[in-house]
Amino acid sequence: MHHFNFKSEELYCEEVPLKKIASEVGTPFYCYSQATLTRHVQQFSEPFKDVDALLCYAVKANSNIAVLRLLLSLGCGADIVSGGELFRVLKAGGERKKIVFSGVGKREDEIEFALKEKILSLNVESAQELELVSNIAKKLKTKAPISIRVNPDIDPKTHPYISTGLLQNKFGIPLKEAIGLFHKASKDPNLDLVGIDCHIGSQVTELAPFLDALRSIKNTIKQLKSEGIKIDHLDIGGGLGITYSDENPPHPRDYAKAVLDELAGLDLMLIMEPGRVIVGNAGILVTKVLFTKHTSQKEFVIVDAAMNDLIRPGLYNAYQEIIPVKESSSESTKVVDVVGPVCETGDFLARERKMPTVSPGDLLAVMSAGAYGFSMSSNYNSRPRVAEILVNGDKFAVIRKREALEDLILGETMAHWLGGKD
Ligand SMILES: *Cc1c(COP(=O)(O)O)cnc(C)c1O
Repeated sequence: MHHFNFKSEELYCEEVPLKKIASEVGTPFYCYSQATLTRHVQQFSEPFKDVDALLCYAVKANSNIAVLRLLLSLGCGADIVSGGELFRVLKAGGERKKIVFSGVGKREDEIEFALKEKILSLNVESAQELELVSNIAKKLKTKAPISIRVNPDIDPKTHPYISTGLLQNKFGIPLKEAIGLFHKASKDPNLDLVGIDCHIGSQVTELAPFLDALRSIKNTIKQLKSEGIKIDHLDIGGGLGITYSDENPPHPRDYAKAVLDELAGLDLMLIMEPGRVIVGNAGILVTKVLFTKHTSQKEFVIVDAAMNDLIRPGLYNAYQEIIPVKESSSESTKVVDVVGPVCETGDFLARERKMPTVSPGDLLAVMSAGAYGFSMSSNYNSRPRVAEILVNGDKFAVIRKREALEDLILGETMAHWLGGKD
């Protein structure tokens, strides 16, 4: 459910016509609905209100600081994967004790940053990382709170690029090896072993893989307990999928019920790291038709947004629904490829898509673009990154202004031997 609806043939975000935003800020732009974001957080957290649970929003899905501020104000913590994301969360006013740090390749400076800020937990993903964290904690004369991320070897049945819990994936530590590391960590005076964690993948649309992973982790927790190792929290990661076209993922309510049933009796704080399910359907990308082009093989709709703005179709062949911002009264449709201006054949937003016939100047809304949209965008082809807008009722705010040409060369300098000034 979201708040992008038609009113008298015009697409609105909450009470603001998208056409109005386009005329004020230009195109393309991402537009997020505060009511939808709020609703998603509430829906996800409500079933857990009577248990000791913390929802650590996965910042990488959408890391705009205004979006973060909103989610944090609704009680969320944060799951971060870099020092940069820690910086963003702190800028947005995040509570340190609600931050967990995931990722297979944390650098020394990032670990140091996290330890100095005294976050809730570093989710350690290898024996070498454990050692490095211990050494840095010792140097800083502190005790590092750590969880160990296990790899439960579960197939999440999602796109191979976003599956993370299989032994062939780089993430986590295979359960068999993990036991030894738990022992090592529990004896290390520089480490405070606080949890166990896992994350099996993204855009998971069935409950079974989550439950299989939980069962396997439950067994590990039992084994650890019997061997005298105590932890405080279980972090079950994120990954719950959303509807882009005809997927039918479990409702967060059903996900919650299944998780709570599976974990009944386990006296541990529960941490979850949802990303996509919170922001995915709370955002869209609005783009303008530049040209239409007809070849003997294809009909192209060339728009002003491209793979650098939204890479999911090009990267994962992902489906994003695309609808005209103004509903057409005509019944005429065409099967088209919606493509951007970037010089790559992989630059498409949709392929072989049946759509109402459109003309240059028309606005199109790329739906379900709130997650892994702007956060994965780049400046490829020297395209300034687009604006981001947050709508709240009948108000809207620019929460990231469109980049200017000067922004494109920020930090670039001439090598001194090339002459001239910077
Ligand atoms: C990406 C990621 C998430 C969020 O995944 P979603 O599919 O967006 O819910 C959670 N935890 C970790 C460790 C991640 O890497």
